[in-house]
Amino acid sequence: MKEGIHPEYNHESVVKCACGNTFTTGSVKDELKVEICSKCHPFFTGKQKIMDIGGRIDKFNKRFNLNQDSK
Ligand SMILES: [Zn+2]
Repeated sequence: MKEGIHPEYNHESVVKCACGNTFTTGSVKDELKVEICSKCHPFFTGKQKIMDIGGRIDKFNKRFNLNQDSK
């Protein structure tokens, strides 16, 4: 078949947040740990000013692109 064309990116990883929530995402990593997630992130809950958390969103996104550093 056509296996091997795509890298192991469709692999589902378990993400564990500091708040205790867990969810899955596509990544080459088996497990990821984050400090904040969609369940507790102020950006998603709207309980905090977006300007205050811009840096945290950037950090959050970088956590999901760790595979970029694997070479
Ligand atoms: Zn969380």
